[in-house]
Amino acid sequence: MKIVTVVGARPQFIKAAVVSHVLRERHREILVHTGQHFDYNMSEQFFQELDIPAADYNLGISGGTHAQMTGRMMIALEEVLQKELPDWLLIYGDTNSTLAAALAAAKLHIPICHAEAGARVHSSTNPEEINRICTDHVSSLLLASTASGLEEMKKEGLAEKGKLVGDPMFDAFLLYSGRLQPGEISLTLLGGGKAEVPESFYYLTCHREENTNTDEPLQEILRAMEQLDAPVIYPVHPRNKARALRLKEQEGFERILMTEPVGYLESACLVKHAKKIITDSGGLQREAFFAEKKCVTILDFVVWPETMVHGRNELSAPRTEEILKKLSNPQKIEKSYQPFGDGHAAERIVAALEEARP
Ligand code: UDP
Repeated sequence: MKIVTVVGARPQFIKAAVVSHVLRERHREILVHTGQHFDYNMSEQFFQELDIPAADYNLGISGGTHAQMTGRMMIALEEVLQKELPDWLLIYGDTNSTLAAALAAAKLHIPICHAEAGARVHSSTNPEEINRICTDHVSSLLLASTASGLEEMKKEGLAEKGKLVGDPMFDAFLLYSGRLQPGEISLTLLGGGKAEVPESFYYLTCHREENTNTDEPLQEILRAMEQLDAPVIYPVHPRNKARALRLKEQEGFERILMTEPVGYLESACLVKHAKKIITDSGGLQREAFFAEKKCVTILDFVVWPETMVHGRNELSAPRTEEILKKLSNPQKIEKSYQPFGDGHAAERIVAALEEARP
């Protein structure tokens, strides 16, 4: 079969890394990078470290409003799809790249396989929710990472197209998280200089629009971090670099190591060795779960309900006291509870494409 895979953002590179290797054993894959994430440490570093095949097309599209970005991607992707006429379009997750590819392919009657389908956060203000819903409704094969994805599909009349395959992020974490040791990582500090990974540390990522579009939420989060009993490593997303640096200038935040984004091998290693995780990322809260680390998620909606058990992942508002309180709550680990599959989601995704072959 000929499969066009469209990726554009950091978490999609990670998923494509594990799936592409399996896919290419038996099929022809054309990889399209929309350009949504373009900095070296948000894109190229992932291709190099995870040995992702070079993109056949790089559309170089990023920035602008949601509609501008999505519209420009649709126009460019339509051309690629018309030229390649694949048996399948394969897409991951919930970004504008995902939605643009889905809409372009649907109108060309190209069958669409959506991996990480059925994820819902039930928030009308979350921009990615619209991408998730629209993408699932125009796709013909919906591959869920967890059982809750299938449940959500049922509610929307999509169950017939759904299949549970497990989470390719879990595959990636098992495969890559032991590749580096903390001593091998050199952190590039925002504003210049290098730092080693401290003996004991917390790991923070924070980049959602909800938490970084104004000063206040980020300020509250950073004030909580400053009070913890170990330093905090915080790789800053390019989107909020200016704000983070300005807040640091205003308030010092001496215990927070603000760094440039790190590669996936580094990030997975930091998850594995951190005391606890604080994040607003869908990917990172799952990785905290995989590594059995206590996680506090700074959002007002649940992204992965499977992680929200036994105190393992708790939601917090971006309020200093609440974050500190939730972080101090204990968690209980039940080893037999493995809702994200067995680390073989990539094989199941490829098998599902073969079975449903159009
Ligand atoms: N990540 C990374 N470098 C960083 C921060 C995060 O490689 O500096 C990884 C993280 O380990 C996870 C993924 O990026 O695997 C999460 O991506 P992101 O937070 O951009 O998106 P989301 O998961 O929220 O969709």
